[in-house]
Amino acid sequence: MPTVNRATFDQVMVPNYAPAPFIPVKGLASRLWDQEGREYVDFSSGIAVTSLGHLHPELTAVLHEQADQLWHLSNGFTNEPALRLAQRLIDATFAERVFFCNSGAEANEAALKLARRYAVDHFSSDKDQIIACAQSFHGRTLFTVSVGGQPKYAEGFGPTPGGISHVPFNDLAAIEAMISDKTCAVIVEPVQGEGGVIPATQEYLRALRALCDKHNALLIFDEVQIGVGRSGSLYAYMHYGVTPDILTSAKALGNGLPIGAMLTTAKIASAFVVGTHGSTYGGNPLVTAVADKVIELINTPAVLNGVKHRNKLLVDGLNQINAKHSVFKEIRGSGLLIGAELAPVLQGRAKDVVTLGAKHGVVLLMAGPNVLRLLPSLVISEADLAEGLRRLETVIAELVPATVAA
Ligand code: PMP
Repeated sequence: MPTVNRATFDQVMVPNYAPAPFIPVKGLASRLWDQEGREYVDFSSGIAVTSLGHLHPELTAVLHEQADQLWHLSNGFTNEPALRLAQRLIDATFAERVFFCNSGAEANEAALKLARRYAVDHFSSDKDQIIACAQSFHGRTLFTVSVGGQPKYAEGFGPTPGGISHVPFNDLAAIEAMISDKTCAVIVEPVQGEGGVIPATQEYLRALRALCDKHNALLIFDEVQIGVGRSGSLYAYMHYGVTPDILTSAKALGNGLPIGAMLTTAKIASAFVVGTHGSTYGGNPLVTAVADKVIELINTPAVLNGVKHRNKLLVDGLNQINAKHSVFKEIRGSGLLIGAELAPVLQGRAKDVVTLGAKHGVVLLMAGPNVLRLLPSLVISEADLAEGLRRLETVIAELVPATVAA
């Protein structure tokens, strides 16, 4: 076996993400180990993916059990785990129909296509306008980079799909001015993740609901990052008390296995008929068996209340670091999706914090150049949470030694 290491990446991979300086080879709950055996506290959960921690024993058991039964069939078949998962999602949410695919981008792609098709079926073929928010992120397919509100992701890929407008997030007047009877869908993240960890206000989401109703537009909530328990509710729409027409989910749904889901009502779903849309692996039994267990485990008062408890521990810990070092301008977010915006002393240095975090054994993420993003597992132990915070403080103290309290 040839040795592979971080340097191999540049020789064999088409450039995509910039990988961390170390390669993790083993995970367990909220800890990771790299090729050299160094250990890390995982405050990233693979960007809200491994929400039940690495190698959750009950998920591993389900995966093994299903691996001994059936992996995949052609699209000409359905399978038991997919049907069970769909029923579980329907029982737990507003949804009456579910579509499975393999990623968040694909779930959004399906949602946007469905919204356009629904408008053609029920209204008119020129009701095709989509409104999205500035700074939003919805994926990397050509449609989703075009809908996303960060133009850098669409740069150089034109011509991009048309009929898409962007409005500032959380700005009621802006969307009121933009929406019309030509709008077929408004897509929004209830908590913007990549855009800097910015929660929508309840007033904003309520107003979007009313505006969409008024103009017969579908309201799509992209809950790819905040969904599946991270807000402290199974889905954030429940926390807000505002029900979308279509909800997209992915990431934590598979706890690391690739799955995306689009949830909607029976009426809207009927705009798709056999053959309109699909995906070879969408809803394959290996992944849906695990996802069914994920929802069963997360959708319990113990786990969801635990998110609120851990939110307090995490926010308190960050406030304590801040009391000593004055490095955060604002600490915000929802449940266990927390953003710490850096104060002038560390302005624009989120990347340095993340890089130094790797050196000190804590896996951190950024959300733009000035926001540190913390997404520990929803079931992280208090000891691991405290240890991760302690390591983060070491990083902060190293970056701003002059401000360490005497
Ligand atoms: N929507 C949101 C809100 C996301 O955060 C992401 C990924 N960061 C996506 C969509 C895209 O998901 P995927 O990478 O699985 O396509």
